[in-house]
Amino acid sequence: MKVAVFSTQSYDRVYLDAANQGQHEFHYFEPHLNEETWAIAKGYEGICVFVNDRVTGDVIEKLHAEGLRIIALRCAGFNNVDLSKAKELGIPVVRVPAYSPHAVAEHAVALILTLNRKTHKAYNRVREGNFALNRLEGFDIYGKTVGVIGTGKIGQVFCRIMKGFGTKVIAYDKYPSEEMKVEGVTYVDLSTLFQTAEIISLHCPLNEETYHLLNAEAFDMMQMGTMLINTSRGGLVDTHAAIQALKHKKLGYLGIDVYEQEEKLFFKDLSETIINDDTIARLMSFPNVLITAHQAFFTQHALRQIAETTVNNLADFESEKLLPNAVG
Ligand code: NAD
Repeated sequence: MKVAVFSTQSYDRVYLDAANQGQHEFHYFEPHLNEETWAIAKGYEGICVFVNDRVTGDVIEKLHAEGLRIIALRCAGFNNVDLSKAKELGIPVVRVPAYSPHAVAEHAVALILTLNRKTHKAYNRVREGNFALNRLEGFDIYGKTVGVIGTGKIGQVFCRIMKGFGTKVIAYDKYPSEEMKVEGVTYVDLSTLFQTAEIISLHCPLNEETYHLLNAEAFDMMQMGTMLINTSRGGLVDTHAAIQALKHKKLGYLGIDVYEQEEKLFFKDLSETIINDDTIARLMSFPNVLITAHQAFFTQHALRQIAETTVNNLADFESEKLLPNAVG
């Protein structure tokens, strides 16, 4: 099958080619798929997309008219695809439901440790011959209360790691996990979580219900100096409210791997460019904000899993098998 692969970086090609072994005809394109670029995929039976491609109803309709038969996501989240339009036109949407929950959970922990112990600042100081310790002090994570929103695959791994640190883990999920309860996680309502947790980590999907779940009202409920970690989706956090919370010191630390407007920035080298996004520029100006560019998934194991599952999803579709990874 001829597949247009959008938002591809050099590493995507390496892993997809290795998994594919010539089964499908992959054509790689660097741009994101959106209302402006959709015509690239004219005449392709499949499109393969990632987190920042915008697979709107309009894009699906236009590509359907050009012969589109399947949409393959190289990620778990599917908030960027108009599922009802795909269903209406009989186009299956397949995804990679789990490639490495450990990769993302471990990155969330990396953000916590870096923000807390300031290893990124210490590294630069020592390289410049500055061996002073002032302003590098952190806190013991042991004994803290950690609030986890969303205890699915990634949230559960994160809970277990944080239990290993000797923290009290409280959680909020629409569908609490019995397994997590047995392992000592206490489920609470959202307000209690906001009021009690000293570190909050987001692991729920972005949808209409969770859009701007972390808004001004939520920040108001928090203790002064709360640490917020978001490795899930940018839209979960109202960035302007987060900036106010940082200014008022409600948020003492913010670690984000995802950002509401990330599609114009992330996965690109803009080091010689003027960044026009004043919101991210403001975020970058805080000494207690740590931003990574959607790299939580980025491990060798995860890239291999993503490539293999994507190739298999397309093969299942071609051979008219059941699609275990279909969405909706
Ligand atoms: P999952 O489906 O296994 O778990 C999601 C959990 O969220 C479920 O337990 C579900 O019940 C819960 N949930 C759903 N709606 C909720 C709501 N309104 N309030 C509270 N909880 C709710 O998903 P996962 O594999 O653990 O992934 C979680 C998210 O992580 C994905 O949706 C994706 O956005 C993000 N992600 C980010 C990266 C990255 O590189 N930064 C990589 C993979 C996934």
